[in-house]
Amino acid sequence: MIIRGGFVVDGTGAPGRIADVAIDDGRITAVGDLRDRRDDDVLDAAGLVVAPGFVDLHSHSDLSILGHPSGSSKVLQGVTTEVVGNCGLSVVPVASVAVATALRPTMTYCDDPTVDWDWTGVSGYLARVAAADPAVGIRILAGHGALRASTVGFDERAATPGELEAMTALLDQALQEGAVGLSLGLMYPPSSYADEAELVALARVLAARDALLAVHLADYSGGLLDAVAAMIRVAEAGGCRLQISHLTAVGREHWGAVPRALALMDAAAARGVDVAADFYPYLAGSTNLSQLMPGWAMSGGPAALRARLAEPEQRARIVDHLADREWSDYLLVATPGSPDLDGLRIPEASAARGLAEPELVLDLLAAGDPTIVAFGRSQHDLDAVMVHPASVLGSDGLAVDPQGTVGGAAPHPRFFGAFPALFEHAVRERALLTLEEAVRKCTSAPAERVRLRDRGRIEPGLRGDLVVFDRATIADRATYAVSRRVPDGIVAVVRGGVVVASRGRMLS
Ligand SMILES: [Zn+2]
Repeated sequence: MIIRGGFVVDGTGAPGRIADVAIDDGRITAVGDLRDRRDDDVLDAAGLVVAPGFVDLHSHSDLSILGHPSGSSKVLQGVTTEVVGNCGLSVVPVASVAVATALRPTMTYCDDPTVDWDWTGVSGYLARVAAADPAVGIRILAGHGALRASTVGFDERAATPGELEAMTALLDQALQEGAVGLSLGLMYPPSSYADEAELVALARVLAARDALLAVHLADYSGGLLDAVAAMIRVAEAGGCRLQISHLTAVGREHWGAVPRALALMDAAAARGVDVAADFYPYLAGSTNLSQLMPGWAMSGGPAALRARLAEPEQRARIVDHLADREWSDYLLVATPGSPDLDGLRIPEASAARGLAEPELVLDLLAAGDPTIVAFGRSQHDLDAVMVHPASVLGSDGLAVDPQGTVGGAAPHPRFFGAFPALFEHAVRERALLTLEEAVRKCTSAPAERVRLRDRGRIEPGLRGDLVVFDRATIADRATYAVSRRVPDGIVAVVRGGVVVASRGRMLS
């Protein structure tokens, strides 16, 4: 295959140039003036950008890619490789299928109920992925939730020395079987119940195998700086590389904290810590409604929470905890048992049910754990992380079928448009990033975080994974109200020398 006459942006951050790119047997073989070459399979890229396929460092497609192997919501954005298993919510490694069954209700954000979870370790999971033959490359992080559920269970307590030993052994085995690192979900039980000594012990296992520690922090609000400092301590004590996941500050009173968090990272980097962050280019996040619960209420897992909700005294304590929220910041996206509420802000849903907001929230949690979109972030904070040289784009979304139902009626628009949104807003409209720097943050930079040496750049010998797009029209068409829309301006997505998507349509 030959891609002719495009503006080649090679992923390294170097200035783009007009060139041809040849791909043979799945690998890039030549870049330059190849007008003498004759190929049957020619893609004319005149006037278009030719970039390495995007590498989504922060994905939650662990289950959804098995239910929807064409991975279309990601592929149609130009993504050719995803790193799944983030935020401590990974599907590997579990000690038994029974642990998987117990863990699954904590993973509603990224679940695909059509998928039968029959694996335990990384090898078993990767075999399932290989059998599904997805249109996007999959790498996986081991998840701290899975490690803890497999050893300590769902109790809110420190691990015993024996349990810690079992956890480190499970992690080491996962890395040997191909996991690219470990994710923590320090706001999500049971990952949130770990103490710092446990995390340092796990960091040492990662350091020995040059694997990444990717962290959903314990606090993205008033405790953001303490949470970042704690993870820098863990990475420094354990000697491993650190990725701060979706760096942001939530809640108006905490706006301005992101530049200070970046300054903590810069100071650590000056001491020799390998630390970076990822971001998605939106001013709202998405999580589970149970994130509004106090930590004690989640101890023991979802069934224990439901038991507490049925007990009047404990229910009253939780209602107290929910006083003085900015309820209009929360949009219901996928509500188990109450799909009629999807698409409503919490005050609207409360009015529809005739309940005060805290009572509505507790009733919804008794029936399952709804997915929500949460507003209330600062453009200034987002800009600070986007322009920082150590940041990379990570969608925090899932690969889903735009016509399907996984993720709810209107999942966060990042599922469909995170990569185009960066080029539309940060590059074209606001000139916050150069085209070359934005491409680097979507390609070689994330690939390097997980040591994917065969992709992320346009260079002879690397995989023929490319995206061809129109810098004048690339655009995210997903909105918070109607998100299941594919982007504009992605002309072709090439994986291993095969065009897998073209102009908003999957070809395989
Ligand atoms: Zn997260």
